[in-house]
Amino acid sequence: MKLNNVILLSENSALGTNRLDIDIEDGKVRRVRASEHVASEPPKVLLPALCHPHIHLDKPFILTCSNPPSENYPDYSDLLPETGSFEEALLNTSKAKERYSEEDLYLRGSQLLAESYKYGVTSLRAFVEVDHVTGALPLITAIRLKSEFSHLLEIQICVFAQDPLFSGTYGEANRSVVTSLLKDHARSVQALGTTPYVEESREKSLQNIEWAIKTAVRYGLHLDFHLDYNLSQPSPSNQPLTFSVIELLQKQDWLGLADKSKTVVLGHCTQLTTLSNSDLERLARTIIESRLPIHFVGLPTSDMFMMGRSTSATNTPQARLRGTLQVPSLIKDLGMSACISVNNVGNAFTPFGTSDPLQLASWGVGVYQAGTISDAMMLYGCVSWLAKKAIGVEQETGYRAIVEGQSLQGMLLISNKEHTRLPGGANGSELKIPARQWTSFKDIVWDPPDVELRSIII
Ligand SMILES: [Zn+2]
Repeated sequence: MKLNNVILLSENSALGTNRLDIDIEDGKVRRVRASEHVASEPPKVLLPALCHPHIHLDKPFILTCSNPPSENYPDYSDLLPETGSFEEALLNTSKAKERYSEEDLYLRGSQLLAESYKYGVTSLRAFVEVDHVTGALPLITAIRLKSEFSHLLEIQICVFAQDPLFSGTYGEANRSVVTSLLKDHARSVQALGTTPYVEESREKSLQNIEWAIKTAVRYGLHLDFHLDYNLSQPSPSNQPLTFSVIELLQKQDWLGLADKSKTVVLGHCTQLTTLSNSDLERLARTIIESRLPIHFVGLPTSDMFMMGRSTSATNTPQARLRGTLQVPSLIKDLGMSACISVNNVGNAFTPFGTSDPLQLASWGVGVYQAGTISDAMMLYGCVSWLAKKAIGVEQETGYRAIVEGQSLQGMLLISNKEHTRLPGGANGSELKIPARQWTSFKDIVWDPPDVELRSIII
């Protein structure tokens, strides 16, 4: 394969001033030289591929799947949101889970993976819900998907408890399902995720966190919490659980006992946006001094949909405090590790959107008011190298130069077109408009290129 007029963009090479002609054989660079085609061919861009650090594999497209209900495919049509509230989403998703079939889980999961790959994703952490209702089915299906897509995607499976593990009638049953599945499928699972905020009290939430840390250490897993998903003002009795996670990780000697390659990811954490500057700085200092491998993942599409709704009690009913982690500031101002992810598509938690990480990064320009050129590069990093660091997938992303013998497999290629062609008018000849070219991080993040222009080097 010959790639002409190529611009390299990476974590360490953001300017893309050199244009290269590259010959590739079996995914490796056979020859590289200064381009002789700058004037004659539209530019191509070579970039680190995209990553979903947090996406739910068993519940995409519950509200938007098009397969007609049948023996193998359940009917979800009665579960469309009526209020769009968080409680309704939890309830309707529980109802959906009771109807899961293997065919349905496989179809929706494979659609999510196929679309993600087309968008330029090569690695992801797939959350798979496990409890007394689902039993092993979502996990077994996820393991099959992981194997069938293994030549295209590095899939980490996160066994995920959305439901309580220490409260209610089924807490204990849920816990024993998670434990027995971890025992039976240890080699296929890379992460353990729980949702401490669904427990009935703070004490039970802390038990949930403590149990998850112990279990992750025992099975050699990454740890991943859905945490502090609210916008309530902190008080002495209502401190964000993020602080407790840090304390409990230290108390249980995560650094001493957990495998060095394993990370701890905290998702949502919208309540942190209500902290004062001094509390935020204290949090950042505590994390940095602890040396714990903690990464935050902002889930802005879900957060914007779920958080910050109006209440009838206020006299400004149209005002909205929209809460989502201010990810660029966590990175730039507080020195913490953070990234962003799609989380959900086509279900009651996030009915809208696509699984395109670049669309999410583009959204970030508006949501985070991050409109500079260096912000564009950081937002790309948030769905690429920063996301990969958060979930601990080993992938080279920081190329400074392309050298002979180097493997380019798994890199994202943007192939610009010379013209946009449109049907002609009365005289019949087609319209040929010179196409705009994507050549920099800002071009790609501000206005993501069509999926037809994207491919992964194989
Ligand atoms: Zn999630």
